[in-house]
Amino acid sequence: KTILICGGTGCVSSRSRPLFAALKRELIARGLADKFQLKFTGCHGFCEQGPLVLIEPDDIFYCQVKPQQAPDLAAALQAGRVAEELLYTVPETGEKVKTRHEVPFYQKQQRLVLARCGLIDPENIEDYLASGGYQALAKALTMAPEEVIAEIKASGLRGRGGGGFPTGTKWEITRNAPGTKKYVVCNADEGDPGAFMDRSICEGDPHAVIEGMLIAGYAIGADEGYIYIRAEYPLAVKRLGIALQQAEAKGYLGENILGKGFNFRIKIKQGAGAFVCGEETALIESIQGNRGMPRPRPPFPAVSGLWGKPTNVNNVETFANVPLIINQGAARYAAIGTEKSKGTKVFALTGKVNNTGLVEVPMGITLREIIFDIGGGIRGGKKFKAVQIGGPSGGCLTEEHLNLPIDYDSLLAAGAMMGSGGLVVMDETTCMVELARFFLSFTRMESCGKCTPCREGTTRLLEILQRLVEGKGQEGDLERIESLSRNIIDSSLCGLGQSAPNPVLSTLRYFREEYELHMRRQD
Ligand code: SF4
Repeated sequence: KTILICGGTGCVSSRSRPLFAALKRELIARGLADKFQLKFTGCHGFCEQGPLVLIEPDDIFYCQVKPQQAPDLAAALQAGRVAEELLYTVPETGEKVKTRHEVPFYQKQQRLVLARCGLIDPENIEDYLASGGYQALAKALTMAPEEVIAEIKASGLRGRGGGGFPTGTKWEITRNAPGTKKYVVCNADEGDPGAFMDRSICEGDPHAVIEGMLIAGYAIGADEGYIYIRAEYPLAVKRLGIALQQAEAKGYLGENILGKGFNFRIKIKQGAGAFVCGEETALIESIQGNRGMPRPRPPFPAVSGLWGKPTNVNNVETFANVPLIINQGAARYAAIGTEKSKGTKVFALTGKVNNTGLVEVPMGITLREIIFDIGGGIRGGKKFKAVQIGGPSGGCLTEEHLNLPIDYDSLLAAGAMMGSGGLVVMDETTCMVELARFFLSFTRMESCGKCTPCREGTTRLLEILQRLVEGKGQEGDLERIESLSRNIIDSSLCGLGQSAPNPVLSTLRYFREEYELHMRRQD
């Protein structure tokens, strides 16, 4: 049997490392080391209940396992029984459930991108290979690059980093751009407050990201790739580094890959903490050693990117989808999701919800299902008020949107956006004006200062929100917020400025009475 201990950052912070060490000692002391394989994996998803332990193939799910409980767990394993005291209790029924499949948190999820996260040792390429790893690359290398692009286009995959641009079309533009030197860049500069999807994928299944990049490289005609990742993600950086070394040693990276004459190398470049470097042109500047500042587009990176060469930039989750599509075929992939948003989406579910964690759901699922069925509803029995989707660039959705199917287009129509996948849930006690001030203070601080509408506009907008929060609103402030926001959106250079007012506008749209209440507070 295999004992899988969650080694995602969430469980590491709730002491899964000492648990792993303690259980290892126990298994050795009891002479069980040969009978049980102990693995330190990536994120299992249910971060709220960590540290998590899964026993395979029986699917026995243990939660909140403390290092001092390692002897109890080892004794149960030795006796071939279930450690009842470590099982998950369903809050609604008070019932203990034995297997992971019975835990409501997992029941409406469709874990495809996260399929290996929590089930393999991300620091051992053999685990990846044993679960079908690098088969998509081998298959892609038997296809013409144009066929690979056609497959990605037919799958309907859209960029998971925020904008939702069709991935196959992006690859095609880069392939058709003039020039022989081309690059692939993986954007792992995930900086939204509350978001940890990309970090978890890199930590839990780094080879899937690498394999996706390799396939992209082959398709567009590139021989070099960069993973641009936040330095604040040390575990992800470490695991990606190990994965790159192991992939190279096994012949999946480097010269003449799998004997097919395809050459590809990947380097890791760590970011220095600027949120704006998630914007692709700023990210490219940063890789080149310059200050991470966006530049006007066009030209788009697909035509002129790194060192002026055609460059395909996709985010972590987008690349992690690619092996799935090549392996199972575009048609099967496209059968999941909605008409215009295919496949699944990984969300980081946080805030005032009972079950915080990492979830993967099919596109088209409703917010209600995510927040109440998977998330277990609102903490402390309080009332749901709103959810901020897409981080500081996104918008807030309310009770009237709970039945909204989650896909790129319906979110845009509701004044929000998919963003990269952060979901921060608010309850009835949250002040929406303060929430807007929080997100705006984040984007204002992260503004690179290059263009006036963003640099000065967000500062002025924040001043208005600040005085509203303090009950010092001035006549016409709400109208001023609206017109200033429109100006910032219309005239800022990059996505950061163009989306910075979104949380302000969406909270004003749906909670105007709260803003008016703040205006009246001075009376
Ligand atoms: Fe910099 Fe903001 Fe202008 Fe973007 S919009 S270039 S972040 S100042």
